[in-house]
Amino acid sequence: MFDNESTKNLKSCLSVVVCATAFWITCSGSGQAQFNNRATTEVDRLTLADVASGAARILDLTHVLNEKNAYWPGPGYEPFHLKTIATIENDDVLSKVFSMPEHLGTHIDAPNHFETNQPDLSMISPHQFFAPGVVIDIAARGEVDTDTTLTLKDIQEWESKHGQIPDGAIVLLHTGWGRFWDNYSRYKNQDAMGKLHFPSYSGKSAAFLIHERNAKGLGIDNLSIDSGISKDFAVHHTVNKAGRYGLENVAQLENLPARGFFLIVAPIRIEAGSGGPTRILAILPKNPAAN
Ligand SMILES: [Zn+2]
Repeated sequence: MFDNESTKNLKSCLSVVVCATAFWITCSGSGQAQFNNRATTEVDRLTLADVASGAARILDLTHVLNEKNAYWPGPGYEPFHLKTIATIENDDVLSKVFSMPEHLGTHIDAPNHFETNQPDLSMISPHQFFAPGVVIDIAARGEVDTDTTLTLKDIQEWESKHGQIPDGAIVLLHTGWGRFWDNYSRYKNQDAMGKLHFPSYSGKSAAFLIHERNAKGLGIDNLSIDSGISKDFAVHHTVNKAGRYGLENVAQLENLPARGFFLIVAPIRIEAGSGGPTRILAILPKNPAAN
């Protein structure tokens, strides 16, 4: 699938990650460094050949598109629709037409989604689609408080346990909402006043991750990188103002380690698009170190 040139390029891309990781390990505390050294070099040692042969693990973080998929419950939005326009029985070929809002299922929010003068979906540099990944977990708190948001203290605690979030990572927030995916009503959790209730990032946590950790994107396992009750959409604005993207309805976050994996984000390319369906893949060592 890859020609020699692109394989070479991707290998050197992975080498850059290894160097950056080595630098970071040098700068972190000694006990922590040893731990993270093990966790990060395992994934950084992987080659594209490992990915192709199955020597590396690939976890698909993409929900399957169908008419039950969750989408933003605003005016003008509608469910995914798939229509058959030719069959092998009648036409010697199977072919279908689909339609959907840009912001349905597992998808990307392009930088122009909440900010003008930012790149549309077709303009995002492909380099932004490859990055080390981390998962921050607030699912336990989300069980008891559906409106909870990620705090700076949560990030500090994560970093004291797992080391500093790598520069240019994609940060994924695990709220536990993935378990409601098959029940759109429970998933959006709308009250009698029409307000949605699900956990997410806070504006402050998003600003820290974007400006202090240079995150390429912020992802989440529910409908929005702003909490359901948000009125100002501070997270979307912070992310988009910096030219970065959001990833929503990301699947399988409960099956990822806190760090030690690499992400590939592959959205469709719509001219002037504000977002679109996106395949998201996590690359992991076969037996990742427990972290
Ligand atoms: Zn969206």
